[in-house]
Amino acid sequence: MDSYRHKGLRKKLIETLLNEGITDQKVLQAMSEVPRHLYLDGAFEDWAYKNQAFQIGCGQTISQPYTVAFQTQLLDVQATDKILEIGTGSGYQASVLSLLAKRVYTIERQKTLFDKTTQLLSNIGFGKIRTLYGDGYAGSPRFAPFDKIIVTAGAINIPQTLIDQLRPGGKMVIPVGTDENKTMIRINKDSDSNLHQEEFGVFHFVPFKEGTVST
Ligand code: SAH
Repeated sequence: MDSYRHKGLRKKLIETLLNEGITDQKVLQAMSEVPRHLYLDGAFEDWAYKNQAFQIGCGQTISQPYTVAFQTQLLDVQATDKILEIGTGSGYQASVLSLLAKRVYTIERQKTLFDKTTQLLSNIGFGKIRTLYGDGYAGSPRFAPFDKIIVTAGAINIPQTLIDQLRPGGKMVIPVGTDENKTMIRINKDSDSNLHQEEFGVFHFVPFKEGTVST
């Protein structure tokens, strides 16, 4: 459950994000509403409001709050947007997006994590997020095209399939690099489907791996 203490810790976290240069009020507001401690296993909930990444099981991590805020801000989410996230993990990033957008689809390649997170999201009131089990490299042909695509695992290159699933006028935010230092990249697909690329500094992510894991 969400207590006054948790709300207080969240308020402090939002101040930290503001001090670190996150300026989008809508993003800060959404992050002040999502009870981040519920996405970590109980014994670790005090870690939830530190500005740090954290293990969530299956060798995966919940992204650092700053990274979530930064990627969300770059995505420039509109209330009418249909968004695809690659790398569901804990479901935290998808939850933040769901408060800002119309529809959120999110893909996870690890079945155990997919099952756990799908259940959690439904339990804590984020059941409208559509979770999908599969390989994010394929995107979601069924629900494409998307106004925005956000990749929350570190890629080696930008998958053409995902670019193809972006609507003209859409944006994709993806961390890309050949070693563990990933450059945050934003692709804008203009109304003529021409691509424009911008870069926004270095971040660390767990790898964007091909294929699925069925256990
Ligand atoms: N967005 C998450 C953090 C993601 S960590 C959160 O808010 O908690 C990266 C996630 O990407 C991991 O769960 C990992 O299993 C997943 N992942 C890696 N490669 C993938 C792929 N090809 N398709 C779907 N998910 C993938």
